[in-house]
Amino acid sequence: AAWEKQVRHSSTPRRPNGFSILVTGAAGFVGSHCSLALRKRGDGVLGLDNFNSYYDTSLKRARENLLLKHGVFVVEADLNDAPILSKLFDIVPFSHVLHLAAQAGVRYAMQNPQSYVASNVAGFVSLLEVAKSADPQPAVVWASSSSVYGLNTDNPFSEAHRTDRPASLYAATKKAGEEIAHTYNHIYGLSLTGLRFFTVYGPWGRPDMAYFFFTKDILQGKPINIYKTHDGKEVARDFTYIDDVVKGCIGALDTAEKSTGSGGKKRGPAQLRVYNLGNTSPVGVGKLVAILEGLLNVKAKKHVITMPRNGDVPFTHANVSLAYRDFGYKPSTDLATGLRKFVKWYVGYYGVQSRVKREISTPAQQSEA
Ligand code: NAD
Repeated sequence: AAWEKQVRHSSTPRRPNGFSILVTGAAGFVGSHCSLALRKRGDGVLGLDNFNSYYDTSLKRARENLLLKHGVFVVEADLNDAPILSKLFDIVPFSHVLHLAAQAGVRYAMQNPQSYVASNVAGFVSLLEVAKSADPQPAVVWASSSSVYGLNTDNPFSEAHRTDRPASLYAATKKAGEEIAHTYNHIYGLSLTGLRFFTVYGPWGRPDMAYFFFTKDILQGKPINIYKTHDGKEVARDFTYIDDVVKGCIGALDTAEKSTGSGGKKRGPAQLRVYNLGNTSPVGVGKLVAILEGLLNVKAKKHVITMPRNGDVPFTHANVSLAYRDFGYKPSTDLATGLRKFVKWYVGYYGVQSRVKREISTPAQQSEA
């Protein structure tokens, strides 16, 4: 079938010893960037995404179009569709899986808690069930989250810090993913690497994230809400630029142990690793807004609320020395530089005119990825 041809074609490596990678969540923010970067260096990349409507699906379709232009095909399917997953692994001997599909966001759990369980717990198990029995058995690198550190206050967070106090259902399902990974590694010898991302931002980003909707609202002259902790302290995040995260994902894939067993048989030595991928430099929301005001050339209407939002943690800060030791991970983009690139993409993509500083808005760029 034409569909099968697309699957084979895009997952065939273009360089000697190149990977054949299944990227789940490929139409998502991080997934689209990783897919492009892997394809550009000559790996075979097949995407999978259910194109759910958690946020603007036209943005997901635009990312898909960009991927198609570079030879990456995205199969429209849900992680929980086991027959289609099995079929993909029957057609393609994937060497690696980069698993980024998930129900993201903290607040949405108050509206739709089951979507977190379905994608982040059941969906992950569905994928691992197929991966553990595949021949060859692929190495799996998957997205966990800094949210597993929950109410920890001993900053910066190291991988060994406690993760038993999640502040949201999102965090709880990401933490569950780490425990589930442990069992698949233990029983089936599946090679698993978890990456705890810290507030990733950049071009083609997620409209549900603060830097994105602040930009939108500031440009439209709408007031923005700034939440503080009960004692009036600023909320701060270890904002990490997308290109740094992509490098971290690729570093984790490149150092993942190659599969030696297959057919669900235990093999060894089994590898289970978890790494922080952050920026090591937290920034308060006030500073974030100030940078955006400067870039957009508009003063924001700020509405300060001295009460944390449900599910939020006050502070995140990554120690990344483990990722540096094992695959040279070194974040190199500060927030002002990264936001400048985001704003440049935003004004190009949405065709925003006028007040945005000239050197950013011209020439408009839509294809930057
Ligand atoms: P995203 O929402 O843009 O991408 C996730 C993609 O997965 C979406 O395109 C969605 O349609 C797809 N998807 C969701 N459920 C699915 C399912 N059941 N079957 C198939 N596809 C499904 O999010 P993102 O920001 O790119 O995040 C990527 C990963 O990184 C996620 O696992 C997320 O939890 C994790 N993460 C992201 C951040 C961040 O700041 N962006 C921080 C920590 C962790």
